[in-house]
Amino acid sequence: MPTTVKAYAATSATGPLTPTTIERRDVGPHDVRIDIAYCGVCHSDIHTARAEWGPTNYPIVLGHEITGIVAEVGPEVTRFGVGDRVGVGCLVDSCRTCAYCRRGDEQYCAEGYVETYSSTGRDGLPTQGGFSQAVVVTEDFVLRIPDALALDVAAPLLCAGITVYSPLRHWNAGPGARVAVVGLGGLGHMAVQLASAMGAEVTVLSQSLAKRDDGLRLGADAYAATGDPATFPALAASFDLVLNTVSASIDVDAYLSLLAVDGTLVNLGIPAEPQSLDLTSLVMRRISYTGSNIGGVRETQEMLDFCAEHGIAAQIETIGAQQIDQAFERVIASDVRYRFVIDTATLA
Ligand code: NAP
Ligand code: ZN
Ligand code: ZN
Repeated sequence: MPTTVKAYAATSATGPLTPTTIERRDVGPHDVRIDIAYCGVCHSDIHTARAEWGPTNYPIVLGHEITGIVAEVGPEVTRFGVGDRVGVGCLVDSCRTCAYCRRGDEQYCAEGYVETYSSTGRDGLPTQGGFSQAVVVTEDFVLRIPDALALDVAAPLLCAGITVYSPLRHWNAGPGARVAVVGLGGLGHMAVQLASAMGAEVTVLSQSLAKRDDGLRLGADAYAATGDPATFPALAASFDLVLNTVSASIDVDAYLSLLAVDGTLVNLGIPAEPQSLDLTSLVMRRISYTGSNIGGVRETQEMLDFCAEHGIAAQIETIGAQQIDQAFERVIASDVRYRFVIDTATLA
């Protein structure tokens, strides 16, 4: 029997989120039913709610930074038991057979992975996310939350954490690497902590110096304001890796000017509009402009374990479900310190 659970859904691109109920599928042989405790609010939830990336299939329950407790397991489940502390990120399934899935890069599945919301699940129904009381997920896409991490501050790791961890690892952030993080929001504040723990030299590039003390406390070695015209010439050609977490369009050429020879600008933000760039700087300094999408299941577990080992977690502001619209507005206004997390007990 499917279970009915309470949730908050977006019903149009402009209206507020509203209370609703959704059906969660019966727990299949390989499934885990999770009672959701917390769910982070990612800027991608806002892009999707407002149909900024193309048409959205309403009503939609957003949320892909889920933590909670296992409430039921299917008979074939081997890795989890009732009572386990678990998480679910942006992925809930993939083909599992393509070359990318086999090597643990389910986020690049050749068939297209099943997203936690806004996809069609294997049961043919639209997937619905974590702004809800419970979710049913195949065990292969469920993460274990280490005991050292509380469930509320762990929730944002499931998207913001892995989205910055994966490129930091891929482009070898570590001792000797000069890393800049553009935007001190949800992704950015995780990038600063993780890059610093990996041993890189970290600079925050924020619109102003308003959050400078926070940036330094999170582990940054330096902090500069992109709103100050002197910043770009002063930092020219001085980074090996720049992670751009800004949700809006940027002046790509200005950020490329910050890269040393062989440096890489990784776009993590997904603005609604196409970006343009002058190819001269790529040629003259053999630099790369690229992007990166979340991370696979295995790497997400590695990131969670890394955070537990290094005492890293999200800085959060806990809200009730009734405050999601207000939280959306504050995220858009860059007034987030540094992730909103919904306490799903407030859905009851
Ligand atoms: P967020 O919390 O809103 O952080 C973005 C930060 O960018 C802001 O806090 C602000 O920092 C800066 N910013 C915002 N608007 C700006 C503007 N107009 N000009 C300059 N700086 C601006 O968002 P998030 O949740 O971290 O997500 C960031 C982006 O990454 C979104 O587009 C999201 O959809 C995308 N995302 C991508 C992936 C992926 O897999 N690649 C995963 C998750 C999210 P300052 O005030 O410090 O400047
Ligand atoms: Zn996200
Ligand atoms: Zn695949």
